[in-house]
Order: sequence, then structure tokens, then C-alpha cells
Amino acid sequence: MFRQFMARLSAKMQRFMAGRYGTDRLNMAILGAGLAACLISPFFRSPLINLLFTAVSYGLMIWAICRALSRNTYKRYQENRKFLQFFDRVKDRQHRYFECPKCRQVVRVPRGKGKIAITCPKCREKFVKKT
Ligand SMILES: [Zn+2]
Repeated sequence: MFRQFMARLSAKMQRFMAGRYGTDRLNMAILGAGLAACLISPFFRSPLINLLFTAVSYGLMIWAICRALSRNTYKRYQENRKFLQFFDRVKDRQHRYFECPKCRQVVRVPRGKGKIAITCPKCREKFVKKT
């Protein structure tokens, strides 16, 4: 009886989620941040900060749910891709990333070389940056 009910529920769930985006790493991070905000909010004595954290945690969780239910899967996928890319760059302690001022191409250069002239590999634009 119970198993049948669960099977029917999961079939319904699958139909409901068909064509929708579902969850990804970015959603996990949003949910995690929302949960963290929810958990630390009671530690603040000030009711205003308390309220702020609660509001932020609800906002983040609602955002994550909206992303999971979204039918615009391409856009959600791009968001997740950008998020992962951003994390890779933060983790990369050996390089710095600059955007070409002309064509917006991202250029990776080694860290700690002082001021260097960078030539964009795409449009050959030269610009000086501190690494
Ligand atoms: Zn360029």
C-alpha cells in the first residue's frame, strides 16, 4: 500500500519535473547559504539583524526553488557554469584573470610578476595590469 503510494508519488513528481531544470551545484550552494543564514540568525541579539538574516535565508531558499522549477534550462545551466568558473578562479592561486578591455576575452596570467603588459590572444589589444 505504502510502496504503491510512494511509486505513484514519485511518478507524479517526475511528471511535474519534466522539462524543468532541477538542481545543480549552484542550487546546492544557494540552499547551503540559506540554511547557514537561517542557523546563525538566532545568535544575533539585535532583532533587526535577526530579521535580516531570516529574510535573506528565506530569499535564498525561494531563489533555489525557483531555479529548480525553472523551464528555462539553458539560462540556468549558464548560471551554474559561470558559478563553477568563478570558483575555479578563486581557487587558482597561481594565476590572475583579467578581462580584455576591448573584446571582453578573459586572459589568464601568472601571479606575482609585478606590472606586466598583457596582449589579448583574441584581438591583440595590449593592456598593463598588476599581477
Ligand atoms: Zn581582446
